[in-house]
Amino acid sequence: MIKGKRILITAGPTYERIDPVRFIGNFSSGKMGFALAEELEGQGAEVILVAGPVQLKTPEGVMRINVMSAKEMFEVAVDKFMTCDAAIMCAAVADYTPVEVENKKMKRAGDEVVIRLKPTKDIAAELGKQKNSNQVLVGFALETNDETFNAKRKLDKKNLDFIVLNSLQDKGAGFAHDTNKITIFDSDGSGLKYDLKSKQEVAKDIVAHLNSKL
Ligand code: C5P
Repeated sequence: MIKGKRILITAGPTYERIDPVRFIGNFSSGKMGFALAEELEGQGAEVILVAGPVQLKTPEGVMRINVMSAKEMFEVAVDKFMTCDAAIMCAAVADYTPVEVENKKMKRAGDEVVIRLKPTKDIAAELGKQKNSNQVLVGFALETNDETFNAKRKLDKKNLDFIVLNSLQDKGAGFAHDTNKITIFDSDGSGLKYDLKSKQEVAKDIVAHLNSKL
């Protein structure tokens, strides 16, 4: 039952600062996470939406917490997860962040510039470590190659209950589109393929699958 459950969602990209005016980011629109938040709220869940920098309206009734960087998203998600029944990790979190953040705008120089990067912490993997047997953890995988292999590896590595794969090889799937085409892999090894649908319809499918786990 979704009704009355407390569900954490991460959505959108993260921005990793280079200097006061520049960042490393990605093309995530946040649409899938926001569609999930709206669907879950509509079905009576209490939704906490941890959103990276996106220009999207907060679905009515949803508690939204805005963050910028992977570090901020990690801290908020870990803090909130303990009290939640489920978490859906929809955000496209930066894998690397600059080692040093310049406090003045970097000047154009003649030669090549090297920005050293260090890995960020994996939010999904951390929640996977902390989760108890009643909590359900859902991840996403956006892959360009070896989709099934990579998605299943992430499912195991991050201790997820299921993972939603969207392939960039599928037309109309993934970043910035209003549609998505997904496959859900379960921790029991099964795989469920869905047709190309609007992100609202895809959200319904994912929520139905989550419902069967709660
Ligand atoms: O390993 P990869 O980044 O492809 O895994 C994708 C899944 O892990 C998504 O559910 C994403 O939200 C989550 N993730 C995360 N924190 C990171 C990197 C990925 O929660 N630092």
